[in-house]
Amino acid sequence: MTPIPDFARRRAELTPDRLAFEELATGRRATFAEVDAATDRIAAVLRARGLVDGARVAVLCHNQARFFEILFAAARTGAILVPLNWRQTPAELIPIIEDCGAGLLIHDAATAELAAALGPIERLSFADLEAAMAAAAPEAPAGTLPGWPALPGGPALPGWPADRVWYLLYTSGTTGRPKAVIQTAGMALANAVNIAQATQLRETDVTLNVLPLFHTAGINLHALPVFLWGAASLIMPRFDVDATVRLIADGRLTLFFGVPALYQAIALHPDFDRLDVSRLRHWGCGGAPLPEPLIRRFLDRGARVCNGMGMTETGPTVFLMDPERAPSKIGSVGKPQVLAEVRVVGPDGADLPDGSVGELLFRGPAVTPGYFGNAPATEAAFAPGGWLRSGDVGRRDADGYYYIVSRIKEMYISGGENVYPAEVEAVLDAHPAVLEAAVVGVPDARWGEVGHAVIRLRPGASLEAEALRAHARARLAAYKVPKYVTIVEDYPRTAAGKVQKHLLARSLNPEAA
Ligand code: ATP
Ligand code: MG
Repeated sequence: MTPIPDFARRRAELTPDRLAFEELATGRRATFAEVDAATDRIAAVLRARGLVDGARVAVLCHNQARFFEILFAAARTGAILVPLNWRQTPAELIPIIEDCGAGLLIHDAATAELAAALGPIERLSFADLEAAMAAAAPEAPAGTLPGWPALPGGPALPGWPADRVWYLLYTSGTTGRPKAVIQTAGMALANAVNIAQATQLRETDVTLNVLPLFHTAGINLHALPVFLWGAASLIMPRFDVDATVRLIADGRLTLFFGVPALYQAIALHPDFDRLDVSRLRHWGCGGAPLPEPLIRRFLDRGARVCNGMGMTETGPTVFLMDPERAPSKIGSVGKPQVLAEVRVVGPDGADLPDGSVGELLFRGPAVTPGYFGNAPATEAAFAPGGWLRSGDVGRRDADGYYYIVSRIKEMYISGGENVYPAEVEAVLDAHPAVLEAAVVGVPDARWGEVGHAVIRLRPGASLEAEALRAHARARLAAYKVPKYVTIVEDYPRTAAGKVQKHLLARSLNPEAA
């Protein structure tokens, strides 16, 4: 196996004095040389604790520069980093720690209480890490570190490529229990190439890092590609819409990547209609369906929001819209990136023609080799030829642009017809009183299943269920029109703001629990 260079070391050699990270909450700034030096000291601390190659180290912290130094130190020592979701409860986190077999948990001050509740696992606070770093001598001088070691004995599980496992990311848990997805150094590299070419990344770019680092978007979309290309990340530990709008207005940010919930909050901000967006040259969005009215709100301000799509299993951008076509291809997630291959297949696994809806299959160097320690799930996830089954259905248009139609799990069948909730939601989203719509299938004695629309209203708006149904009836086949309408304040969501439809359905029909 050809060793992949040490990213932090190489970057420090190339652009030692450029800004890598700035923490907006603390004012801490770190150049590439400083990140590299801190990485060395953390690696020394980890080695001094007797960590062996392949040991799992969990990290529970809010977004901050230290996270990256720990991530690079894991690479340097051969440890596998497991970023944990600090919004989860001990009851959710303990099975994850057991699942990945972490022996050490590193946590910051904000997560100390949560960390203390996680049972018998060795803990290291950021404060103690700091003290240990001060005492640790830097490791080998620049340029003499070995390449990344392979796991002893070759692949960890039979059939896995020998790529070095760098970190594990748990899926968002939108459809059920989160699964541990292997992230290799090779995947990070391929993903960085995809994103850098799609956004024409350069050293002078400045991005906002606000999506949680325990998800693929937080770590893979913003952070690692931006770092590898020598650009700067401003780190915001928790999304603050006022501060974000100010940063955009100040003109310091050149790139912004968000999820639809963040775009929604920015669009509702009182300063939005006066916001000068001209210095920010690339707006990316993904992770969940992006409503058309929201895209148009940003287009009206001169911001071409580029929708994209990826998974924890594939890296965050299998697809990304090109800015030139963003205004004319609304609803599309763009084309496959340079290192991504895509197929649309029917239930028999055969390729479908353009325009037909089928399951999306993905392949390429940014796709994971599998789920950590879960060979049955890995086997089930791949079709012959190494194609990852995405669990999403979509289609391709005649120009080669792709559309995500639905998750297979969210589709329901009404009177024998398939209904894709995202299609119905797009129609409901266009009603002037609707801020956001979520549609789930619920049991029905006559039709098998029918749609139940759960609506968040725009501030100050009101809505009659019948008026919304009439709006839908004028635009959709009758079997797609939701039978029920409920208005709510908000939905059950994941940390990245995704609507958890299975929990929503359960809240509408407690007997199904
Ligand atoms: P879990 O696998 O645990 O149920 P999850 O699938 O939400 O959770 P992620 O890997 O974070 O976990 O999300 C990937 C999924 O998000 C995709 O499979 C797709 O369903 C959805 N998704 C991502 N981007 C978009 C987008 N632009 N439009 C619609 N859906 C998207
Ligand atoms: Mg998934």
